[in-house]
Amino acid sequence: MDPFRLIIDGKRVPTKQCFEVLNPATEKPIGLAPLAETAHLEDAIRAAKVAFKSWREVTERKRQTACRRIAQNIEEHAEELAQLLTAEQGKPLGGMGARWEVGAAVAWTQYTASLSLPMKVLQDNNEGRVELYRKPIGVVGSITPWNFPVLIAIWHIIPAVLSGNTVVIKPSPFTPLTTLRLVELMNQVLPRGVVNCVTGDDDLGPVMTGHSDIGKIVFTGSCATGKKIYASAANTMKRMTLELGGNDAGIVLPDVDPKQIAEGLFWGAFLNGGQTCAALKRLYVHDDVYEDVCDELVKFARKMPVGNGADDGVMIGPVQNARQLAIVTDLVKDAQGKGRVLLGGAAPGRNGQKQGYFFPVTIIADLQNGDRLVDEEQFGPALPIIRFRDIDEVIEKANDNPNGLGGSVWSRDINAAKSVATRLECGSVWINKHGMIQPNAPFGGVKQSGVGVEFGQEGLEEYTDLQVIFA
Ligand code: NAD
Repeated sequence: MDPFRLIIDGKRVPTKQCFEVLNPATEKPIGLAPLAETAHLEDAIRAAKVAFKSWREVTERKRQTACRRIAQNIEEHAEELAQLLTAEQGKPLGGMGARWEVGAAVAWTQYTASLSLPMKVLQDNNEGRVELYRKPIGVVGSITPWNFPVLIAIWHIIPAVLSGNTVVIKPSPFTPLTTLRLVELMNQVLPRGVVNCVTGDDDLGPVMTGHSDIGKIVFTGSCATGKKIYASAANTMKRMTLELGGNDAGIVLPDVDPKQIAEGLFWGAFLNGGQTCAALKRLYVHDDVYEDVCDELVKFARKMPVGNGADDGVMIGPVQNARQLAIVTDLVKDAQGKGRVLLGGAAPGRNGQKQGYFFPVTIIADLQNGDRLVDEEQFGPALPIIRFRDIDEVIEKANDNPNGLGGSVWSRDINAAKSVATRLECGSVWINKHGMIQPNAPFGGVKQSGVGVEFGQEGLEEYTDLQVIFA
């Protein structure tokens, strides 16, 4: 395979230095990523700025066609991308893992390519005609995390280019390789400079968020980084979409069949080893069904093999990196003395060996709001369960958190579930499932989980400025 290079102005650009990318299942290097300097980033922003002049003039129909071709090109390279994704991210190849993520990237691209931004006539009468246009902003800076590096890159790039913007993307230093390859594939279809990719340290991020030639930042990552980005962009009045952390509550009402909901609860919490922004991160269960739900969930969880994502049959991979493993370990340790460990509980002893960042599927019952595993985002394979008796009290507890990304309600009575759903302070609520996002439904957080939305018409419009013409 060719070595990985930055992609700037349609060219593969080497750097003086590179950095190792590790496989989280083995802690062994799987490849070298180019380490960009600020000058590379400046080149990429300049190339995107020049490309914007002509890309914005390309008809919407041609941009839609280009996006469809991108989808086709990804599909033709799907297995290569999936293998690379498993190697650098750790997720299983099968199940809802790497092949699923690449397939979803194709589906999202195809759907987004069908959207359009027509001019709207607001008024047309004797007093005049008023037309509303949606215009591209310019250069979009995309900054992505390590949990779904392919899909999140697609969520940022495709609506940006479809609406006539150009892009500089900077992936997480933990998972740069799939993004470099993805952008290379896009460049086989797009004119040069429309999508550029720069990889390197975290310190490239602030250069992007403060840059006067970047008109919008789309960021997916932690709340802590999101707050820094929000502050740093004020000087240049950038447009912002911030998709930040979550601490989603799931509320199980007393009328459920515990056996029937166990699988949905499990995948709601443990998809991608719990490293999913809108995963179920706190489970509130009514006293009437509490022990039965705990039993059925543990029974289901025991059957899920954890291991190297490249091995057949593995359903849950390792934690992606040592930093995240330390966060999960610390939160679980704190919870062990407070609750009842039903499953898992501690990472295997390392004995000085490099053996992968594995943490067992962990379920801890009898915790409370105020316990760290309940209040803080674990972003890993550990689920706290909290008992409740009163519906008003549980809604208050679910809302007693600075985050507001998603939530779920579990009940046989859809109307009862909906009436709880409308009282939850979060951007999405699922009934009898959790985290099932789709390309035609806007997705975003309220409170400190973010600003703005992605997906659907509303998500596409965030890549535009409005202009009103009064004739
Ligand atoms: P992170 O905030 O540590 O890093 C995300 C990206 O920001 C990386 O590319 C990093 O290099 C860059 N970065 C770091 N410091 C920066 C700075 N000062 N300025 C600009 N960029 C900077 O997040 P992470 O650990 O990679 O991802 C995990 C977090 O992402 C979790 O909190 C998770 O909930 C959240 N997330 C949210 C969504 C969503 O849609 N809401 C989706 C996925 C992940």
